[in-house]
Amino acid sequence: MARPIRVRFAPSPTGYLHVGGARTALYNYLFAKNQGGTFILRIEDTDLERSTDESLRMQLDDLKWLGLDWDEGVDSTTLESKGDYGPYRQSQRLDLYRKHCDQLLEKGFAYYDFRTDEELEQIKQASGEKFTRIPRPETILDLTEAREKVASGASAAVRFKVDGGGEHVINDLVRGEVRLPEDMVGDFIIMRSNGMPVYNFCCAIDDALMEISHVFRAEEHLSNTLRQKMIYDALGFEAPEFGHMSLILGQDKQKLSKRHGATSCHQYHEMGYLPEALLNFVALLGWSAGGDEEVFSRDQLIDKFDVKRLHTAGAVFDEEKFKWMNATHLRALPHQKLWELLGPLFEKENISLPESEDFIDKSLTIFKTKMETLLDAIELFRPVDEKYFEISDEATEVLEWETTKAVFEAWRAQIKGQSGMYLTADEFGEMQNQVKDAVGVKGKHLFMPIRVAIIGKPHGADLKMLVPLVERESLLRRVDKALAAL
Ligand code: GLU
Repeated sequence: MARPIRVRFAPSPTGYLHVGGARTALYNYLFAKNQGGTFILRIEDTDLERSTDESLRMQLDDLKWLGLDWDEGVDSTTLESKGDYGPYRQSQRLDLYRKHCDQLLEKGFAYYDFRTDEELEQIKQASGEKFTRIPRPETILDLTEAREKVASGASAAVRFKVDGGGEHVINDLVRGEVRLPEDMVGDFIIMRSNGMPVYNFCCAIDDALMEISHVFRAEEHLSNTLRQKMIYDALGFEAPEFGHMSLILGQDKQKLSKRHGATSCHQYHEMGYLPEALLNFVALLGWSAGGDEEVFSRDQLIDKFDVKRLHTAGAVFDEEKFKWMNATHLRALPHQKLWELLGPLFEKENISLPESEDFIDKSLTIFKTKMETLLDAIELFRPVDEKYFEISDEATEVLEWETTKAVFEAWRAQIKGQSGMYLTADEFGEMQNQVKDAVGVKGKHLFMPIRVAIIGKPHGADLKMLVPLVERESLLRRVDKALAAL
């Protein structure tokens, strides 16, 4: 009988969620949802110095923002485990690792290594450039003796015994048959001398006990997979199937890292990106949907996800494309939803705007064509709010032109001559023509003073977009201020 599909995302909570981590989480999530399986969140926090509850919350917040909800794992508010296979924090599973470590020792698959760090360093130095792995110690104490020695205070790590057997072969769901050289791994530590288990060991035990059926993770984990498989075999556990995804690269084809700029989901969140755009974008770094189409909702991704289309070539993180994708998702949002997302930004910037449905519809219809990120709304909308109107120093030259006063006055008369609460873009165009005829000026001597009378400076906002959003009364007060500045 096929195993129930159970996949996991297993972050180490040492900072914000990286876009690479988001992609790993997403592929596992999509696979689970597509297959009717379970998506589990396990917290790999055995590095006690670097793993903090604060970082954990940061990662959970990022995952929640992305909408990658997990079926089992830790609760995002209480951090308590929820699910039948808990606890889901490795720091709370130490007794399980110790128990399995004992089994490996007892079965002869592992041994205590009493060599000190200095001794190991000397071994490394002595083999110089040829060094690949730590050799097995010349003598391995019998387990009872070793345990007594440890009990009397000696410090020892536990190493897993890696015995030859030729090339290692991993059948990878993405890469097919992967062959790794026999000497790729030597006897590796599973339990440090301070009693803390290492990643490869915890991960294998947890994946086994949590009955994980598939593991999708980045290709840099291939050598870990090799070690983890050895642990499954030794303990008689059924190993999950593994798929190793390509790396995400920066524009220079090097592995994506901080020096390429923003790499965490949190940064993109702050930069005004939408979670659906981020998911869509990272989904296509390493996977293709099959056709030419590239813009997908979460549900479409779930529907289309197929492991067969995960690919091995490194995927370049193209910022421009990401921006385009964000703009596309943003423009497709219902106006009410988009407005809700903009609300906190306007509030933070102290931009006050009318809240009527008409205004929301009209302003978003106009401005969303100019928005690639949510943040773009700030400078688009700011001039709508009259409190930001002031005659800027940049307007000085315009104010000195002989014809400016006449333009202001003619413009004022045009506004007075209208009756609606707002002007339309067409009315505005017509009014400019009227001013032109009345004063007999054209080009910059016409347009720049009108601009100054609306936004306080001769350059900036696209007036055909802006004017229909500013109340006629406000336009009047603005031109009066401009007249007063002459
Ligand atoms: N905690 C590991 C990491 O953050 C998980 C790797 C895995 O998926 O096994 O890289």
